[in-house]
Formats: sequence, structure tokens, C-alpha cells
Amino acid sequence: MLKCLFVSTEVAPYAKTGGLADVAGALPKELLAQGVDIRVAMPYYGMMQGKYFDDSAQSPINFDVFLGWKQHNVSIFYDDKIVPTYFYKNDHFYYRGGLYGYDDDYERFAFFCKAVLDSIQYIDFIPDIIHCNDWQTGPICVLLKDKYKWDKRYENIRSVFTIHNMKFQGVFGDYALNTLGLGGEYKSTDKIEFNGGISYLKAGLVYADFVTTVSPSYVEELKTYEYGCGFDGLLRDTVSSRMVGILNGIDTEKYNPADDPYIYEAYDVDHIWNKEKNKLEFQKEFGLKQNSRTMMIGIISRITDQKGFDLMKQTIEGKWFMDKLMDLNVQFVLLGTGDYEYENMFKHFNYVYGDRARVFLDFNEALAQKIYAACDVFLMPSAFEPCGLGQLIAMRYGTVPIVRKTGGLKDTVIHYNYQTKQGTGFEFEDYSGYWLYQKIKEAYDCYNYDHEDFKQIMKNDMSQSYGWNVSAKKYIRLYESVLAISNLWNQANLDVTNIWKECADEIYRVKVNLGKYINNDM
Ligand code: ADP
Repeated sequence: MLKCLFVSTEVAPYAKTGGLADVAGALPKELLAQGVDIRVAMPYYGMMQGKYFDDSAQSPINFDVFLGWKQHNVSIFYDDKIVPTYFYKNDHFYYRGGLYGYDDDYERFAFFCKAVLDSIQYIDFIPDIIHCNDWQTGPICVLLKDKYKWDKRYENIRSVFTIHNMKFQGVFGDYALNTLGLGGEYKSTDKIEFNGGISYLKAGLVYADFVTTVSPSYVEELKTYEYGCGFDGLLRDTVSSRMVGILNGIDTEKYNPADDPYIYEAYDVDHIWNKEKNKLEFQKEFGLKQNSRTMMIGIISRITDQKGFDLMKQTIEGKWFMDKLMDLNVQFVLLGTGDYEYENMFKHFNYVYGDRARVFLDFNEALAQKIYAACDVFLMPSAFEPCGLGQLIAMRYGTVPIVRKTGGLKDTVIHYNYQTKQGTGFEFEDYSGYWLYQKIKEAYDCYNYDHEDFKQIMKNDMSQSYGWNVSAKKYIRLYESVLAISNLWNQANLDVTNIWKECADEIYRVKVNLGKYINNDM
């Protein structure tokens, strides 16, 4: 049985700041269902303690982790109600108000990486694959390969590293090397040096046995100067042959309009008219004018430039974007937190448009689900988007997405075609407020004057499958291929020239076909 340790610094439902938590909550669940012996590893943050299982009833595994000359204790708790999960507790590092953004993040996550690796000696689980996610877990890949391999227990473990967002690179000063227990030679361009600093993300890219990202389009984009965030050369030259894109899914049990405890009225594709009740109740609860025929526009997002909020500062035909938008007979609902400048802008619009706009500067999952169910259209005009889950959740709730054609948005939303009646939303390509407005206007006209077409898009959205079934199979193929390739490498290293040649051919064949093989429709 394939054994995988899935390592992430956020996992739904325990701790979440964005899509990574959704993936780390749902993908392991599906892998478990498909027969993988999977365990999840995550930090035990202060805000989770005592909420999900009774930790006072457990005797955790305890040991010390060495970070340079410092020594910190870790206690590992375990719970398997959802997926078998190890929780790494150290209150000095994880008993804080949030998950990220602290001056000692380099130490907090170096600690987590080393604790995860060291714990393999104590938890009675030696994985075949350690699946790392984003920069916080990148150091695992370099440490495994260069520092732990001499130990038999680690010798055959392989690593897979998934990029959920290339923009977050975990770049720190040279002091991070000492913390990780790596020598000065690692500050080199072929190792983990990046722009004069040390990058945890690069540790994942360079040292993982295989690299994945969360949509096929994002793989290609990452190799370009525009999207590569400084890593495009590395990806084109050395990572490209061991990198694929596997599209994210969503947890269809959690996001299910037919059975969602947070929404006002359950509905499915055969009872789509019940969706309207969610809008009416939402309007009532939050003081918007009750009218089932007013198009409600929703956004649920981190409020940053990445998500296209700079487009909403622009002027169109002499008016501020938001003023122009609100000239239409629409209601506007936003839930999110982020950059101060945008938060202020939306506070202003919340004030100016009284009974037609509601802005919630908050992170609130229950409210998010209400908004997904209540709105008619969902905006995601991202500058770049590795996969994007917001649009998938919106479509699952029959809420029509208006997206910019980039990354995973391009792979998951199809522009509606009035002739063939196929398509799932509205897309625009040029990154400009003008085009965003044009697409909202197109959706608005469709909603108001082509009811049947709008209903058709909603039905198309709700009839698709968004689960993890297919993508989880691709991950399994990937894990198996990584193990097969590394076994071949092992044989090749051990044996004489002839065998090496045979293996080399085989390795080449597997490598060339791997991308195609993993992404083949199943
Ligand atoms: P990201 O780049 O932030 O990971 P995704 O679209 O991939 O973007 O995933 C965002 C996830 O976080 C979705 O599940 C979305 O519903 C959720 N989310 C974003 N902002 C909020 C918020 N303020 N409150 C509740 N959920 C949120």
C-alpha cells in the first residue's frame, strides 16, 4: 500500500487562510478513499487547541528539535476522525493570533520541517512519499535529500513539492541557513540562493523529486518572465522535465448547496429556483433591498492586487469603476480581508451605496457559504491565479463566474456560447477595468434580458463535477511514477554500464511520457 505523508501549514477545517487549506483538507480525504495510506502533518496552532479533539486525553510524543544552536521541544498529537493527522505543538511558535506574517517565520517553519522529518523516527510510519506544499515546507526537500538520506529509515523516501502560489517565496537572510543546519555552500544559485537571500520555495523546486502545481495553464505560465516571479529560468531549464499541473478540486461534501447547514434554503440543479430564496433571505438579514430580480454580485477573496482589485480603482468613461458599476441596477457584496488601501476603498463604497452594497472585512466561512448561495454572479478578475477555488465553489452553487482568462480560471471556466448553449461563465483577457466592466455588463444583460440563457449557464455550472476523484487518481499515478523512476535510478547507480544504459532509456521514456500519462483523461 502506497504510504504518503502530506505536509501543509494549513488544513481545513482546522486552520485556513486560503485555498491551500481547502486542498490539504480535501485531497488527502480522497486519497484515503482511493486506498492510499495517507497521514497529514500540520502545526498545532493556538486557535485550534481543544476545538477538534480532546488533547488532554492524549500522551503526545515529545522530543527536541535542533535549530542551529537552539533547541525547541515538540509535542505531537494525533487524530483520525477525518484523515489521520499529526499536530505538531510548540506554543512559542504557534500560539499566535494568525498563521503567517511574523518576523521569525523562517524559524517557525524551519522548526516545523525539521520536526516533521525527525518525527518519522517516532511515529511508526515511514512514508514512501512526503508531499510538501508551498514555501513553508520547501526545506523538507533539501534536508531529506542532503541531511537525512544517510539514515536507512529515510533512504527510500521521495518528495513531491506542490506550488500553490509562486508569489510567496519564503525569502530570508543568511541566518536561515544556520537555522536549517545548512552550510554556507547552500547560498549558491544552483542551490537555494535567491536574489541575495535564502528561499524556502527554491529548496522545494530544486530538491523535490517531482514538482507539481495546481493547474495545467499555470505550469506553462510559470515558465514565462511575466508570471515566473523570478523563477521562470529555473523552471524552464532544470525543473520543467519533472513538473506537471494537476487541477484542484473542491470538497463536494462541504460545499454542497443541497446539504449546507449555513445557507437559508437547500437546492440542487433540479430545484434551482430555490436558490432565489437564499438571495431574498440574505437581503433581509443584511439590510439590502429585497428584490429577487436585482442581480447580486459577490466577491469572496483576499483583498490584494493578485485578485484584480486594482482594476476596481480605475476610471471608465470618466467615472470610478465602482460608481460606474453601481449605475447598473445591481447589488454588491464583498467578503474579504487584505490590503488597507482596498479595505478603505470598499468601506467608502459600503457607506455611499447604503442599501445596495454590503462589505464584510472579515474571514468568515459560514458567511462565505451564504454569499456563494445568495449571489447571481461571482467576480474573480485575477491578475494571476494558480487554480482558484472561489470560482469552483461559486459554480457548484450555481453562481455564475466572471473571471479573467488566466491560470486555473482559464482551465475551469468556459465562456458561454449563446448558439451552442454551452459554457459556464464569462471571461475577459485584457487586464483592464474596462474589460472587467464590459463582462459584468454582458452578464447583466444576459441576467436581465435573456433569462433562459442565464438559467442555462447556472444549470451548466451545477451539472459539472468539481470533486477530487479524477485529480486524486493523477496524484496516485504521480506518486507511483516517482517511486518507479527513483527505483530505476537506484539500480542504475548500483550496477554496471549495460544496466545503466537500459535504465537510462527507461528513465527517459518514463520522463517524457510522465506529463502526458499523469494528465491523461481517466
Ligand atoms: P487563494 O489564492 O486565497 O488561495 P482560492 O480561490 O484558491 O484563493 O481559495 C480561497 C478560499 O478561501 C476559498 O475557499 C474562499 O471561499 C475562501 N475565502 C477567501 N476569503 C475568505 C473570507 N474572507 N472568509 C471566508 N472564506 C474566504
